[in-house]
Amino acid sequence: MRRPTRSAATAQRARSLGPALLAVALLLCTLTPPRIASARWRVQQQAKGAVNAGKLKNASRLVNSRYVKLRFPKNAWGTRRLVDLIQQCGKHVGKVHRGAHRLLVGDLSRRTGGPLRPHAGHQNGREADIGFYMRSGKPLGGLWRVSAGHIDARRTLTFIECFRQSGELMNVFMDRALQPALVREAKRRKWSAKRISAMFSWPRGKYVRQGVVQHRGGHDNHIHVRIRCAKHERSCRDRPVSRRRMARIRRRHR
Ligand SMILES: [Zn+2]
Repeated sequence: MRRPTRSAATAQRARSLGPALLAVALLLCTLTPPRIASARWRVQQQAKGAVNAGKLKNASRLVNSRYVKLRFPKNAWGTRRLVDLIQQCGKHVGKVHRGAHRLLVGDLSRRTGGPLRPHAGHQNGREADIGFYMRSGKPLGGLWRVSAGHIDARRTLTFIECFRQSGELMNVFMDRALQPALVREAKRRKWSAKRISAMFSWPRGKYVRQGVVQHRGGHDNHIHVRIRCAKHERSCRDRPVSRRRMARIRRRHR
């Protein structure tokens, strides 16, 4: 009998190893968690500078969905985190309170960021204007002025709380007169006084900058959400540039 050559022996060993390797590969596949949508997205810098003096790179686009209705698709660009949060929290409200109307979303940022009239902010993809959930069960045609009696405090509070729980929310701006409706809802949910005080600037004065939800003029027709800079966004700054510094910069560029 001819002795098998060396290469034939190797081939035979490989053939016997084949099924074992296949089994190991299959096992590894089942142990790896399924990829989630955002895992496919490469972490990269998006927000640069401040909300009122910044730019947006590698912008992510918010699109119309079952839960979200855009007013200005042209200005619906933001950081991936902001865009995801709006969709996720819109969906969350839809699941928790059945029959919710779609969330009406106004301006985020332009695709490359920078000034977006008439806003002072909205420059680096970390801010969005969002319509209130309405008690009528129908979203308004635009971001129109609303009164406390018209807003759906239940759904609006669930939406804001969803944002807060993400740990990414910095502030929500909303007219002071509309806050008591949400505070009442928070009390109904048995939130502690401490928790309510950390969430709302009301009943403190108009210009007190405490609480996540704060008063700003011009916010009686929508809420304005602002998220933090991500850790990997090295040249992003959480705080807006002060008016004084802004004036100095303008003078320098004149
Ligand atoms: Zn705004």
